[in-house]
Amino acid sequence: MRRVGCLLLALAAAAALLTGCAPEEHEEIIFAMDTVMQLQAWGDGAEDALTRAVQRINELDRTLSVVNENSDIWAINHGQGAVEVSPDTLHLVELALELWRDTGGALNIAMYPVVRAWGFTTGEYRVVPEPERAELLEYTDLGRLELDEAAGTVTLPEGMELDLGSLGKGYAGDQVMDILRGSGVTSAIVNLGGNVQALGSQSDGSPWRVGIQDPEDESAYLAVLEISDLAVVTSGGYQRYFEEDGQTYWHIMDPATGAPADSGLISATAVGASGALCDGLSTALFVMGADAAADFWRGREDFEFVLVDQAGTIWVSEGLEDSFSLAQGYEDRTVEVVRR
Ligand code: ADP
Ligand code: MG
Repeated sequence: MRRVGCLLLALAAAAALLTGCAPEEHEEIIFAMDTVMQLQAWGDGAEDALTRAVQRINELDRTLSVVNENSDIWAINHGQGAVEVSPDTLHLVELALELWRDTGGALNIAMYPVVRAWGFTTGEYRVVPEPERAELLEYTDLGRLELDEAAGTVTLPEGMELDLGSLGKGYAGDQVMDILRGSGVTSAIVNLGGNVQALGSQSDGSPWRVGIQDPEDESAYLAVLEISDLAVVTSGGYQRYFEEDGQTYWHIMDPATGAPADSGLISATAVGASGALCDGLSTALFVMGADAAADFWRGREDFEFVLVDQAGTIWVSEGLEDSFSLAQGYEDRTVEVVRR
């Protein structure tokens, strides 16, 4: 027994020598916001900062959840009149309204009843027929939502229900980055259910390499982005879907039709400084399709994109041209660089 112990100690010492004075890695893996989350940070202060980051994620999960009866969103959806909410909720609803206007309605946080009718909240999937879709869409006009910033209240018209599922993980990622940065951490990467957000670069100074999943093969990534200090957020039809009569129906809805988005895209990735913005935009770009997404991007300076269409073509906005590369085995894919 003793000898084995010594041997292990000796090995540990050798490993410590090999790594020299490389900063120590700390990691947390949790389940929150209905998904698995992995947080990694390096160096002094990282362990405490990660503990606080996890607490913050859990707090946001409780506040923003559409199914937790104690959440702000539950209170808004089931309350009457003006409902007082936390600054986090108020901020996110405001951002969502702004993006709803900017994206021509492609991002719409009032799609919850539509998502539910298709069975994505219960697993009882069905193709919702046209007259029912039109009925459901009558309650999705966000222009009728009232937000009182001074009072901190949100008022919904009868029949409307909100769901911040398209933005919440990105916002949580931003909060995690703030906590880590505020604690002096200079190297960290988190993966919140497919939303990747990086702080600084790797501890050896090289950029982070973030894989973009092959929407047609869950176990592979088709491209790599080399980034620092950015969020990389992907929305894909592959995340939640069902099949009926040879057709695939996924959980991202086109607010114009009340049916799953059918824009020709099978995955949309938004890259930028803000995780919340990129989360909202990845959903919106997926709904818009490649051409409308490119036009939308030309009117803004706050994000870049990678889109994959049904034919397998990859559309990359020019700001990512130097950081984008195809993964091994995908070298024959067509890549179109989209210019301003
Ligand atoms: P995920 O959360 O699966 O990573 P998204 O960020 O794209 O993916 O968010 C999709 C979620 O947002 C859906 O599960 C649904 O609840 C909701 N949703 C569906 N369509 C829309 C839409 N057009 N705008 C806003 N939210 C939507
Ligand atoms: Mg999103």
